[in-house]
Parts: sequence; structure tokens; C-alpha cells
Amino acid sequence: MMRQAEEVLRRVWGYDVFRGRQAEVVATIASGQDALVLMPTGGGKSLCYQVPALMRPGTAIVISPLISLMQDQVATLLQLGVRAAYLSSSLDAHEARAIESQLLDGRLDLLYMAPERLVTARTLDLLQRVPISLFAIDEAHCVSQWGHDFRADYLGLAVLAEQFPQVPRLALTATADLRTRADIIRLLRLESAPVFLSSFDRPNLFYRILPRLNAMEQLTDFIRREHPGDAGVVYCLSRAKVEKVAAALQAQGFPALPYHAGLPAQVREANQTRFLREEGIIVVATIAFGMGIDKPNVRFVAHLDLPKSLEAYYQETGRAGRDGLPSTVCLFYGLQDVIKHQQMLMQSEGSEEHKRHERRRIDAMLQLCETTDCRRQLLLRYFDEHLPQPCGYCDTCSEPVATWDATEPSRLALSAVYRTGQRYGVEYVVEVLTGKRSERVAANQHDQLPLFGQGQSLALKSWRSVFRQLLAKGLLQVDGDGFGTLRLDPSCRSLLKGEVSLTLRQDRDTLTAQRQARGRSKAAVAVDSADQPLWLALRACRRALAEAQGVPPYVIFHDSTLLAMVEHMPLSLQEMRQIGGIGDSKLSRYGEAFLAVIREHVDALA
Ligand code: ADP
Ligand code: ZN
Repeated sequence: MMRQAEEVLRRVWGYDVFRGRQAEVVATIASGQDALVLMPTGGGKSLCYQVPALMRPGTAIVISPLISLMQDQVATLLQLGVRAAYLSSSLDAHEARAIESQLLDGRLDLLYMAPERLVTARTLDLLQRVPISLFAIDEAHCVSQWGHDFRADYLGLAVLAEQFPQVPRLALTATADLRTRADIIRLLRLESAPVFLSSFDRPNLFYRILPRLNAMEQLTDFIRREHPGDAGVVYCLSRAKVEKVAAALQAQGFPALPYHAGLPAQVREANQTRFLREEGIIVVATIAFGMGIDKPNVRFVAHLDLPKSLEAYYQETGRAGRDGLPSTVCLFYGLQDVIKHQQMLMQSEGSEEHKRHERRRIDAMLQLCETTDCRRQLLLRYFDEHLPQPCGYCDTCSEPVATWDATEPSRLALSAVYRTGQRYGVEYVVEVLTGKRSERVAANQHDQLPLFGQGQSLALKSWRSVFRQLLAKGLLQVDGDGFGTLRLDPSCRSLLKGEVSLTLRQDRDTLTAQRQARGRSKAAVAVDSADQPLWLALRACRRALAEAQGVPPYVIFHDSTLLAMVEHMPLSLQEMRQIGGIGDSKLSRYGEAFLAVIREHVDALA
């Protein structure tokens, strides 16, 4: 059976070997058993059901929540010569009929549909009349109460176990936590299904987190140095900021487009389509953007505001580098983020227990930002995975962070908060510490305090860094009054009394840090300058073919396939067939066109 599976993989996809646990999953489903698959984004979930769909008799039914995802998958499969279609509300009655009759005639290998459509009596009845090879339930975490928008629709899928007991069911998700997993098993009746859990590490993502000084300058510097011409996503918290950042990027010549829920639907859709169809577009977005995007060659994801939890951070950053090629995720964060999150927490209406839960989530996020150890180790530990060694592929690994003994300045900072009556925000307390006799300081006679001006040896930037870290460590708290008023947390007592010392992260001049990091992070997809002309010519060929068919370029070939062409320069169809990602169908469709590009290039060299 595995021989057959590998034959399908090679013939249709042009891939040599299964990745990770794909082979086990394929074997399980192909032999008619159920399975639950937990794999990170980009891990290769689709093949887990697409390969068995081609091995078993009948049509595979794939349940997916979003039309854009279905369209993308179907376009990709059609390019591979696989008979695939989707049923969705975007089709008119006539089109839907046509697809139903293809199904009834046994002319479909895979049929995609949304859960709400599947559970209608009409669809269930239709499915009873044809042989079904398997049910694949994508984004299965939607069934969980900790999940998401589509829960009600997903709950209806329990009916599959009753009505189609002999058909194997495969649930897939990139959400791995235990509660979600338990919900999926219970609600989709997968109690006896083997669980295939993969590592959630994303080894091709370089993690970088930088203190924010001048966000726009840092962002443009980052893009210019590490990802010129690449496609990326920039996340901001508010709609207004999205607009501002997109406009600022445009003004500097970047092809940037805004995306948030406040834009008219046509604009949103047009911007999303350009992001998918064109190369090198940067989308500036709120978190409304992302679900339903499986563009494989997003080369960077930048956050200009702190995400609210590590779960959110992991999901948003996970949209980079699905194709496995090197990509960078970069978070800029600062004192204001810490203050804002603490305020939101104080103002939240929930129960005490809910607040504690939220605080833990934010604390974990802050810990990731402030750590001087390997980011990846910390991140994976949060998801209950143990990475024995530092990864060597994050900013703290490749440029170890300096620390300094901040016991005295911290004590001074805490005293200043206390002596000024725990009634002011960071700016004011720093004025007192650095001896700035502003109007308000004078009016309050805080220039009379013994500690007035005692902190002049530290620069303003350093004081802000100290306060940020004291807040992040929970030694200081922010009131929910909207003014950022600081107060002492009881946990700071031992530091104030001189019983413990405190070591803090030495914030670097961030632009220098980025510059130094450039060579080491290997974050960009590397094409030697000598190979640039061929690489650009291959991309132009791909773009022309994609435009002619109205599909995204990556549906023709992935970047990794073009890179392999650059490396091996195949000069015949047989040689071309050896390249990863070129199966029979794509070879006959596009082989000659790309060979012509390579031959021309080789002739020019001769
Ligand atoms: P997921 O749905 O888990 O995010 P996908 O199924 O979209 O991931 O796969 C991610 C990428 O990896 C796709 O571009 C896919 O073609 C590629 N891929 C998957 N399996 C293999 C494999 N065995 N060999 C080579 N490439 C693979
Ligand atoms: Zn690391």
C-alpha cells in the first residue's frame, strides 16, 4: 500500500518522500481507519487526505469553513490534474447542479464544501447515493468551545459518524492544546481514532523581537534590509493605525495595501486578491486578515503592536513561510504596549478567574519579549514541547543579549513611584528621576524630594526600558484609570528592601542590531547574484502563465520549485521531471515553457 501511496505522491505532486507523519496518516486512512492529525501550519496537512483520496474508490468530501480556502485548494488540485470541485453559496443553482451531477457520475476525486452545506438533508441524501472514499474535516478546532466563529456549523458534523459509519473520517487542525484536542475527539466521535501529533516547531521561521523606538523607521529598515521585494503581512492593533502605516509605506514606495473590517467588502476583497495574485505585496492589517489565507510564500510577518497572547502570536506568525523556505517574523514592542495591556486587563468586565487567566496569557507574551534565552525554546515550552538545545535560529541565539545589574536604578524607580504618591505615569516619574523641573513637577513640589534628579546618570531611553521591564515582571502595576498611573505591586518589596538584586535586559540600539543580524539570519530566500537573471526570468514566466489563467503564481509552481530549477538548470523534460514539485500534469502543462526560459539563459551564458 505504501508503494502505491509513494507512486501517487511522485506522479501527481512530483514529491519524492512523505514529510513527518504524513506517511503514517496516509496509511491509516487508506486502510479505512479514522484519524486525528495535529500539525503546524505548513506541515503538509492537505496531502494527508488528498493522497488517500486518490487511492480509495469514490469521492473524498473535504469540509472547510471558508470559500477562499476551498477555491485555492481546488485551483491547486486542478493544476495537478486531479478532479476536484467545491460546492458553495458563491455558485449559482446551475453551477451547483453541474457539480452534483459530476459527483453522481463518479467524476470527482475530491469535493470541498462548507460544514453548514454538508449537514443539510439535501446534501446528506446526495452523499448517501454515491461511494465516498473519506471525510476530511479541515480546521477541526472550530468544533471546540475554545475555538471559533464556525462552531455551530461544525457541531453538526457529528452526524457523519452516525450516517456514514464505514467511511473513514480524518480531522485536521493546527491547534494543539489539550482542551481543543479533547473537544474534537468527543464532538466528532473520534474516540477510537489514532492521534498523529507533530512537533509544532517551525524551523524555517527566524524569530526576532525588538524594542520599539521609531516604529516606521524600524519597519522600513527591516523590510529593506531583510526582505526587499518580498510579500509580507504587517499587523497593527487598530484600524486607524493600519491606514496610517499602509499610507506611510506607500509614500516610501512599498507596494502596501490596507486590510481591516472597517473597509468596504469590495476593497478588502480586491486587496486580498492582489496579495494572492501579485508578487511582493505587503498587506498592513488588523487580525481580521489571515484566516483563509494560505499563500505559501509570505516571507515575513511583522507585528507593530503586542499580540494579546502567545496563541495569537503563534497563529499570526505562522502565516509566514508555509512553503518551508526561510522567513522572518519580527515583533516591535514597547512600554506603551505593556501599559495598554495592563489597562485593558484592569478594565475588563470578566470574573476574577477570567482576569487571572488573561493575566497569565499576557504575562507569557511579555516573558517571550523580555527573555534573554532562546525564543523558540520558550515558545515551544508554552505549547508543552521540549526543545533540548537553544535553536540557533532566533535573535537571542544568534546575537546573545547583554544584561546589566539594574538593582539600584530599579529600586530608585520604585521609590520614585512611591514617593510621588502612586498617582502618576511613567513620563512624570522619569521627569522626577532625571531632575526635570517641569511645570507640573514644580507645582507638586516634587523637586523638593530627596530623590529628585538622582537618576540623571541614565538616559531617558534607559529609564523607559527599566520601567517597561518592571511592568513586564509585574513589580509595578498600572491602574485601570486610563492615565497609566503606576503603583507598586506587593512583590516588589524584597527588591525595595535590598534583599534581592535584579538583572535586566540591555536594550540595544535596534537599528544596529538589525544590521548586524543580517548576515547571520539567512532570513531571505537566497539566490546568488549571478543567478538573479534566471530567477527573475522564471518568475516572469510563472507570472505570465498565472495571469493567463487567473490563478495565483504559487498555484503554477512554488518558489522552492523555481529555486530548484535555478540550481539544477534542467535542459530536458526528463531532467525537469526530477525537480521537486513537478508531477506529470505540471510537466506536460508547463515543462516546455520553463525549459525554454532555461535554455535561453544557458545560451546567453555560452
Ligand atoms: P498545511 O495545510 O498543514 O498548512 P499544506 O498542506 O498547505 O500545509 O502544505 C504546506 C506546503 O508543503 C505545501 O506547499 C505543500 O505542497 C508542501 N508539502 C507538503 N507535503 C510535502 C512533501 N511530502 N514533500 C514536499 N512538499 C510538501
Ligand atoms: Zn533560539
